[in-house]
This record gives sequence, C-alpha cells and structure tokens, in this order.
Amino acid sequence: MIERITKEIMQIGDPVTFEDIAGLEGAKRLVVELVCWPMQRPEIFTGLRSLPKGLLLFGPPGTGKTLIGKAIAHESGATFFSISASSLMSKWIGEGEKLVRALFAVAAYRQPSVIFIDEVDSMLCQRSSDENEASRRLKTEFLVQLDGAGTKSTDRVLVVGATNRPQELDEAARRRFVKRVHIPLPDSAGREQLLRRLLQKNAHSIADADIANIVDKTKGFSGADIHTLCGEAAMGPLRELHADIRRIRINDVPPITAKHFAAALASMRPSVSDAEMLHYRKWNEEFGSFL
Ligand code: ADP
Repeated sequence: MIERITKEIMQIGDPVTFEDIAGLEGAKRLVVELVCWPMQRPEIFTGLRSLPKGLLLFGPPGTGKTLIGKAIAHESGATFFSISASSLMSKWIGEGEKLVRALFAVAAYRQPSVIFIDEVDSMLCQRSSDENEASRRLKTEFLVQLDGAGTKSTDRVLVVGATNRPQELDEAARRRFVKRVHIPLPDSAGREQLLRRLLQKNAHSIADADIANIVDKTKGFSGADIHTLCGEAAMGPLRELHADIRRIRINDVPPITAKHFAAALASMRPSVSDAEMLHYRKWNEEFGSFL
C-alpha cells in the first residue's frame, strides 16, 4: 500500500508557485498566511497561530483550486499527495478505508505534507438512504484521520479539500475544514493577467485594445475556459494555411490575431452560469471563513 501511495498519489510534477496563478489576489494572500507561514515557521505558529488541519477551497470548476493546492505544497517545501475522492471510491474499491489510514501515516512520516482531496463532496456528502456500507466506513475513517492528523503541536500535515458543490457537505465534514475559502471566477484583472500570460508562449499580433475587448467578452469564463479559448484561437493560424501539416515550415505559421479570438469566442460559452455563482456566494456568506 505504501508503494502504491508513493507511486500513484504522491506527486512530484512541475512546481507551481503562487506567481503562476493569475488573479485571486485575496484568496492567495489568505492561503499564504493561513497555511504557508505556519508550515514554514512552525516554531512561531503555535497556540492561537497554529496550522489549521483542514482547509476547504470551494468554487466553480476550473478556477485554480488544484493549482493553489500544488502551490501551497511547493512553497512550503511540503510533500504533495493528491487524490480525487471519486477515485478513492472506485479505483480503490474495497481498500478505501485501509488506503486512507495508510495515506495519513505516509503523510505524517514525510511531513511537512499536503494531502489534496479533489471532489471532496463525493466522499463527505450528507447521509443518504442509498449510501452503502463501504462508503459510510470510508467517510468515518477519513473524519477520524482528519481529527488525528497533526494532533501533536509539532505535526505539519495539512488536508486541503476542493469542491464545486460545497452545499453537499454535511455539518460534521464542514466543521473539520476549519478554514473555508471561496475561489471565485477570475475578475477582469485576473482574466487579463491570464490571457497575457498564455499569449506569451506563441507568436501573436494582439494589441492592448484587442486584449481589453477579449477580457470584456470573457465575463463569466473560468481560468480553464480561458485556457481552452486561447488554445482554440491558437489553432486558427494553422487552419487558415490549408496546407499539409507535415510540410509547413515553422516560420510560415502566421501569428495569432484578434480575428482568431473572435472565431474561437463565437463557439464558446462560459461553463458556469450566473445562478451557480450566486450559490457559491450565498454559501460563502453562510459558511465561508472570509467574506
Ligand atoms: P479546479 O479549480 O477545478 O481545481 P484547476 O486548478 O485544476 O481547477 O485549473 C484547471 C486549469 O485551468 C489549470 O491547469 C490552468 O490551466 C487553468 N487555470 C484555472 N485557473 C487559473 C488561474 N487562476 N491561473 C492560471 N491558470 C488557471
């Protein structure tokens, strides 16, 4: 089990820094203070200042919750364990409970550690009558481990849960995630930052006025939507060449222009509706740690 955890759940991957995450200035500042500082300087962060065991990141899909989890681990010099709750319940079927126990043990051994659980709502949802025995036991084990993680004041194990459906979490689960931070859709400044960053990687002739126009037209887009949009626009120059891809010379590829963005925008809609956004805002007002 330890071997499987090390191979499949412990992640090395490209280091992500908070700089790499566009926008979300407020959320990033909070997360740095709440968890990065205590992980970096445990001797200062004791008593009232000690590391919260559970941090919940909630908000629409594709807004950077996973990136924040990775950045916390990287910037705190922590080992990063990442698993989605749905794979815990399907791929590790029958072994879920044992795995959770082993995962927390390996994380404690390799501390400082960040255990990132994606789609945490699917494991910790409110009891329903069709809930089976195995998933109930898994949930109980997870809550027990979460309570036990970092019980010693010197322990540095942080559990970060991410969810697009915070309203599905029951009271017991909500209470364990002591800090609950809303990760909203990017505002116009965030969208601009992300667009400029993504465009740096390819030749383009997009002027500032074009950027402002795209920023305006992408209201309601998530970071992931903007990434998809830029990818789609970047295909434009290749498509209009109407040439055999095997024979195109790299210098003959035209730059990406505003026209390519207009075409890409015509075929895309934001993936999150206004009504859904309202849900997140309301949940934040009721249960979020910060407004
Ligand atoms: P989720 O909130 O669903 O966990 P992710 O963090 O996995 O979203 O983001 C998905 C992808 O969208 C990222 O790999 C990245 O390309 C892009 N993305 C989303 N938000 C941002 C952001 N704020 N800054 C930079 N890239 C972002």
